[in-house]
Amino acid sequence: MPSETHRSLTRLSRHFRVTGRDGFRLRAFSPDDTRDLQLKDRTDALLEESAEVMAQLQERLYAQDRWSVLLIFQAMDAAGKDGTIKHVMTGLNPRGCEAHSFKAPSSEELDHDFLWRTSNKLPRRGHIGIFNRSYYEEMLVVRVHPEILGRQQLPAELVTPRIWKERFEDVVSYERYLSRQGVVIRKFFLYVSPEEQRRRFLERIAEPDKHWKFSLGDLHEREFFDDYLAAYDDVIRHTASPFAPWYVVPADHKWFTRLVVASAVIEAIESVQPTFPTVDAKTLRQLKAAEAALLHEAQAAGLPRPGRTRAARPRRRRS
Ligand code: ATP
Ligand code: MG
Repeated sequence: MPSETHRSLTRLSRHFRVTGRDGFRLRAFSPDDTRDLQLKDRTDALLEESAEVMAQLQERLYAQDRWSVLLIFQAMDAAGKDGTIKHVMTGLNPRGCEAHSFKAPSSEELDHDFLWRTSNKLPRRGHIGIFNRSYYEEMLVVRVHPEILGRQQLPAELVTPRIWKERFEDVVSYERYLSRQGVVIRKFFLYVSPEEQRRRFLERIAEPDKHWKFSLGDLHEREFFDDYLAAYDDVIRHTASPFAPWYVVPADHKWFTRLVVASAVIEAIESVQPTFPTVDAKTLRQLKAAEAALLHEAQAAGLPRPGRTRAARPRRRRS
């Protein structure tokens, strides 16, 4: 049974949700926001409660086999995508959950339209899909480094100054289509400050066990921090919608990032109120008949009734 604190947290993510362009400014959000919540020490316990709630919702989603949930994570390096995915999704049943990472595209992927490689990895009905980076890179890294466009094999006449606006439109149409197909889409921008990114890079360099997480390329991208922020600002403004909202998640404090994302994921699954399928009267009669046959078989073998172990049986009083 979730605690009172956990129940109140279910609404936490709403403060960071963006569903349209009206009045949106990335600058209105702050990477080190924690809404003055003093919950750092209780995060593990709260995430455990979230994991339980999520697992129960996922079971229904899977059994119902109608809706699917797509969670997209975008961020700059060291903002905590991997850790957030690991800590928030830990309670999910792998049977109905797949995570995919999208790095620089292969030559085969570049030979197709930009939605091709992610379309292949969309979650099937009843499943939860996690995208660690996504088609949004096409409006982020590609915009910050437009020379990448030159490697995309696009017909020259289609590469015009309008290309970013066109990509926004195409993505909004695509997400509208997916939502009409039963895909519940939620997009997360983990918003880290340049100061906190520097601190995490230094930590990665100082600790041998974290060396693998650091690459010199990350330092190069850091030089474009402001360009990325401008690109994120534009992307969120143009692609936030009621059917595929963005969450601008403060990412300077990992514990807070995780609580906000957990709250949004629970809200996402709850939004379609998944229920266990019910069987019709005929199937119910068949189930009852099967139960009677199995009980009869157990009785004939001299076994106790299932569900009542010997130990659980009331002791007969000795006379
Ligand atoms: P991450 O940086 O996500 O934690 P990683 O460090 O394991 O993952 P990288 O080798 O850094 O993996 O791969 C991610 C890089 O791939 C990012 O710099 C990202 O911008 C780039 N990338 C992803 N999609 C595209 C794309 N469509 N076009 C160009 N570059 C892309
Ligand atoms: Mg990287």
